[in-house]
Amino acid sequence: MAEGIPKEVMMDAALVKELAEVAKDAALLHGVQMRIQETPNSSELVTYAPFTLFPSPVPKAVFHQALEVQTHYNTLVDRISQDSDFLREALESTIAVDDFTARLFKIHQQILKEGKSQSIVLGLNRSDYMLDQKADGSSSLKQIEINTFAASFGGLSSRTPDVHRHILRVAGRLEESQSILDNNPAAGLARAVAKAWELYGSDKAIVMFLVEDTQRNIFDQRYIENELWKRNIPTKRKRFENVCKTGKLDQKQRLFVDGEEVAVVYFRNGYMPQNYTSEQSWEARLLMERSLAVKCPDIGTHLAGTKKVQQVLARPGILERFFPEEPMVVEQIRATFAGLYTLDMGPEGDKTVEMALASPGQFVLKPQREGGGNNLYDSELSQVLEEVKGSTERMAYILMDKIHPAPVQNILLRRDGPLEVTSCLSELGAFGAYVRRGKDMVMNECVGHLLRTKSSEHADGGVAAGVAVLDNPLLV
Ligand code: ADP
Ligand code: MG
Repeated sequence: MAEGIPKEVMMDAALVKELAEVAKDAALLHGVQMRIQETPNSSELVTYAPFTLFPSPVPKAVFHQALEVQTHYNTLVDRISQDSDFLREALESTIAVDDFTARLFKIHQQILKEGKSQSIVLGLNRSDYMLDQKADGSSSLKQIEINTFAASFGGLSSRTPDVHRHILRVAGRLEESQSILDNNPAAGLARAVAKAWELYGSDKAIVMFLVEDTQRNIFDQRYIENELWKRNIPTKRKRFENVCKTGKLDQKQRLFVDGEEVAVVYFRNGYMPQNYTSEQSWEARLLMERSLAVKCPDIGTHLAGTKKVQQVLARPGILERFFPEEPMVVEQIRATFAGLYTLDMGPEGDKTVEMALASPGQFVLKPQREGGGNNLYDSELSQVLEEVKGSTERMAYILMDKIHPAPVQNILLRRDGPLEVTSCLSELGAFGAYVRRGKDMVMNECVGHLLRTKSSEHADGGVAAGVAVLDNPLLV
């Protein structure tokens, strides 16, 4: 087991009780907050965002590996987004059976036909990893997925380092307190948005955050909004409804919503089928895609982040297509791939089915969905695969090796939750930000990290799903 804060500290019930109180107040003081479930659209009552009492250990080498490969992932996503032949081939089987991906793909085809109206591209993503424990006790960095759409917690994770520093100081662990890393993804993400806004070149045009109807996690976004306001960049929150009712394009394809010109559309909504509550919301999405506004992400980048594309990338020779003259980059990216397997019809897919049913505990079955809680494990995996294995329905899924990280001990703090030492698993994310104009990469950076930790009992689910909590790495 990896080392971190000693077990005797966590087992000291009186100390833990005191620290938990200090911790919750520190979280509120530093703005690690969420609205409460009962009133998700009001800031009258808020609570702390769930987090760990202590930072969790993360091996130094793999941590740096995740940060270092990030700019290559940015480049990869950006190149995939521009390769319409690749996207068509990769997603062909998926769109035959998955309506949501098919709908997105249709928008992509339409934009391709009409020609893009904007050459400025803004990409904000988060590549997520788990550390697979090897037989010799060392761990290797394996990508879970890359989120190219609405990757969250860049805001709150900019404030959690100070919370853990404070808790550790109060606990008398000065050395660990001082070794908590600085982290400020909010500033980096905002810098990229600001760059795109500047390149768009209209002082009055707004950055539009397209937000969900239910907004519990609003503070996470406010950090980025406020960074933009500090630069005097007008930033407004709008819903699909606003775009449906008032969105229009002028003769230059400029986008106007509620009478204001939009320079950048930052999608924090629109990644799940349920987000499109009516035909009008789909029309609104198409309107925004067609417009001159910079989209984060544009439709090609959205598709580049699908799980099917992730699986196809793991096939031999595919990464080389995107980095024909950069074998070192290919190697660096490929080193982070877990085993990924197709479920397309044919002998290869049949083999995948057989392999998964023979040892379901070794794999994860994933549909083309985002937001947590959609993946299938163990007996559920077997059950669903038995149902779909004989039909084309199976092409809506991909199969992935299950990653087995070393469990760590921690105490999870969440509203009204028990204070108990829990066996936990962590997931490390790296935030990427890039801006391109035409062929010019104007910015390409790794702008920070995110550590999330959950009880080992839970196979799936992130912070928003109520399973994982925010954490900080303690490099070991
Ligand atoms: P989503 O897009 O719904 O967030 P993910 O692929 O990120 O889907 O999976 C959700 C969660 O399921 C992850 O945060 C992780 O905890 C768990 N998970 C996903 N893939 C694996 C895997 N290959 N091995 C172990 N756990 C996994
Ligand atoms: Mg995810």
